[in-house]
Amino acid sequence: MAVKGTGSYDPSNIFAKILRGEIPCKRVMENEVALAFHDIAPKAPTHVLVIPKGPYVSFADFSATAPDAEIAGFTRLVGDVARHLEIEDGGYRILSNMGEHAGQEVPHFHVHIFGGAPLGPMIG
Ligand code: 5GP
Repeated sequence: MAVKGTGSYDPSNIFAKILRGEIPCKRVMENEVALAFHDIAPKAPTHVLVIPKGPYVSFADFSATAPDAEIAGFTRLVGDVARHLEIEDGGYRILSNMGEHAGQEVPHFHVHIFGGAPLGPMIG
């Protein structure tokens, strides 16, 4: 079955520009396969985005086509960021908008990490 978005990566998207260093970001940390930086319009006291360094359109694309080592390294960085920002004890939420119904704005796979305060209902 075809995976929606696979093969149609647009290298002009804003996160591709961040990865190429063409526009700045408030970097939190990175590893070989992923980069974490603060969201420009935070929706919680802590709101960080984690993106793979490779060209994946969405979670659907990443989960279906990325090598296992990239998926493992990406997941590891999400946990490392939460620990580094000391939101693990209080708890945090991770979320990825995939496609139209979820309102995905940037066509480069990303996970949001929210924390730093009680976050309210799962879907507002
Ligand atoms: P989505 O709706 O695609 O899940 O989330 C995209 C996120 O990217 C939004 O939370 C938005 O605030 C964030 N964003 C958009 N443009 C920029 C930017 O240039 N820099 C940073 N750091 N975040 C951005």
